[in-house]
Amino acid sequence: MSVSTVVADRTVCSPLPVLGRDVTVPLVTGGEVAYAALDYAASAPALQRVWDDVAAYAPYYGSVHRGAGYLSQLSTDLFENARGTVARFLGCREGDQVVFTRSTTDSLNLLARALPAGCQVFVFETEHHASLLPWQEAEVAFLDAPRTPEQAVTTLERALAAREPHGPALVCVTGASNVTGELWPVRELAAAAHAHGARIVLDAAQLAPHHPVDVRELDVDWVAFSGHKLYAPFGSGVLAGRADWLREARPYLAGGGASRKVTRRADGGVDVEWHEGAARHEAGSPNVIGAHAVASACKALNEAGFEGLVARERYLIRKVRDGLAEVPGVKVLSLFGDDAPRVGVISFVVEGWNSSHFAAALSAEYGIGVRDGLFCAHPLVRTLLGGDPQAQGECGAPEAAPGERSLNAIRVSFGAGT
Ligand code: PLP
Repeated sequence: MSVSTVVADRTVCSPLPVLGRDVTVPLVTGGEVAYAALDYAASAPALQRVWDDVAAYAPYYGSVHRGAGYLSQLSTDLFENARGTVARFLGCREGDQVVFTRSTTDSLNLLARALPAGCQVFVFETEHHASLLPWQEAEVAFLDAPRTPEQAVTTLERALAAREPHGPALVCVTGASNVTGELWPVRELAAAAHAHGARIVLDAAQLAPHHPVDVRELDVDWVAFSGHKLYAPFGSGVLAGRADWLREARPYLAGGGASRKVTRRADGGVDVEWHEGAARHEAGSPNVIGAHAVASACKALNEAGFEGLVARERYLIRKVRDGLAEVPGVKVLSLFGDDAPRVGVISFVVEGWNSSHFAAALSAEYGIGVRDGLFCAHPLVRTLLGGDPQAQGECGAPEAAPGERSLNAIRVSFGAGT
């Protein structure tokens, strides 16, 4: 069996239709082929239902909050209802806030700007850069890569136990890895964080499209995710959770919408009263269509039911893993071991192949879109490839010299609609 047959099996089709399934692409070998987009972890194709909901709203387009006209009021309702839908999707607690952002990266940067003074941040070196990097202005402890979920919990416990106990602290953890697809023990990490007086934010960019995320059940303080990975179009994201740090922080962006009252002072300056709710961090004209699309995706996933999606994805993961196991020289990357529970994200290297050439060949010769590189998780991928996590390297796809160990990997990812 070849790798292309493994990753391009189109015999099974999800009950949740996505756009783009019937796109055909030209091949370098001649002819055309139905395109197989297996890069969901980067951006998932939007659900047909989401586009339909966006199209249904398009004629009623207006700017929110301050307009007296009918379309403005309609758009305001749509925007605020979207907030409610997302809150229900995430099982938010009474008093939690849902802030619409541009993406997971934006959400975590917003939270980083809202850290109380003296806050220490704890983050595993295995994180996606969106979770790893926003905390640069705080005191950050980078935790070594654990090799089991249990070790992740003990590593965090040990680090938290060694900290100055009275100051504020935040743990940032990813629910599902964008490299290995492996699930992290979020509930246990949250329990460890809280036992040591720290708070925890869950990067659910890869988890939310595949599994239910319930803030109460997981007992996390915040959740961040991106619309474009949750089967909605680009441009919208969510930060949801505890209101206090957000209320006390300076607005993420200064401008209209975030400000309640602005007055000129006698000394020539201006005084500003900022909003306290989500609007505090949503200055400017918000992305109403993006919020509506995210809410539509949340409803579609809830209505389809995660049980069916999870079962189907498990089947696809098994199929891809079994197929890859038959291909000589393929090594699947894993931090927690082959049997660790995971979402539909599988990275591998093929002995004797440069991963970039391999991915390019899959696209050019078979019409299969995968991804190659270090997946914005440089330290993790270097660790998984047996290299030095501290080695220097470029973003994207560094080349291995002929005969050398691969310096980057190939990633296949799928989800609802595959
Ligand atoms: N976190 C994880 C685990 C991701 O996989 C990604 C994107 O791949 C992000 C965060 C960042 O998402 P975005 O680019 O939408 O901000």
